[in-house]
Amino acid sequence: MTGLAIDIGASKIAVALVTEQGVLLEQQSLPTRQDQNSEDLYTSLYKVARSLQETCNEGVAWCGVGCAGPLDLTRGLVSPINIPAWNAFSLRERLEQDFSVPVALDLDAKALALGEGWRGAAQGVDNYMAMVVSSGIGAGIVVDGHILDGRTGNAGHIGHIVAVPGGRRCVCGVAGCLEAEASGLAILAKTGRPPRQAVPSLRQEVGRLVGETVAQVVTVLDLELVLVAGSVALGFGQDFFDSAQAALSSHLGMPYAQGVQIRPVGLGASAPLIGAASIARAQGLFGQQ
Ligand SMILES: [Zn+2]
Repeated sequence: MTGLAIDIGASKIAVALVTEQGVLLEQQSLPTRQDQNSEDLYTSLYKVARSLQETCNEGVAWCGVGCAGPLDLTRGLVSPINIPAWNAFSLRERLEQDFSVPVALDLDAKALALGEGWRGAAQGVDNYMAMVVSSGIGAGIVVDGHILDGRTGNAGHIGHIVAVPGGRRCVCGVAGCLEAEASGLAILAKTGRPPRQAVPSLRQEVGRLVGETVAQVVTVLDLELVLVAGSVALGFGQDFFDSAQAALSSHLGMPYAQGVQIRPVGLGASAPLIGAASIARAQGLFGQQ
């Protein structure tokens, strides 16, 4: 059966029909605008998802949602820090009511990590991190073959590790978080230009900050691979990845951590949506083939 996959980020929401084999059939996206209230935003999402559902002859059987954090997974509430319209918004329940299918919700970055393990570049790898460097920065971490949830389900918020002590004030309130220094929104605020216009030296600087921060996580958790998605990192390409790898390697001193690679995700631009579907799979909404 086919399902609905929804990826909710700071600048856009993407919706797709995805098969239980992890094949993306059809997708649409809509912008998230800062002037929308919570109902306007939900209605826009609902209309796009409904139009996709109606193109699917057999109907949809499940829904997987990857959403920017933080979330309250116990109650199915979302409060994306860069989408002020949704503060403790009851997204899971609303979707379940409106589409009459079971809905699995988790962090977008955890979705990404699960998707890469299912159909991407982390197949067969038991200890890895998949991160997004886009409007915001986040990560999902798999240790010993299991995705880390943490006490409240918010494990993996690497964007809120301090990368530049005393640096720019982050949306979370702390100074110098990685997200406040290296995200798409931070680049726009610092330079007045969107990330796609960034000069090579800035692309390398963002790669360095990411690589240095990733090294701390790799060292603490004994990871073997780091995968990166997101429009900023993938858009910056080789400038970003070469610099991130150099910074990562030079900050890994312990013998067990030598040789850890930081690479683009295997699923490319489809990674967030395949990831959202993999949330539904991980929560048992369809078969484990
Ligand atoms: Zn922060």
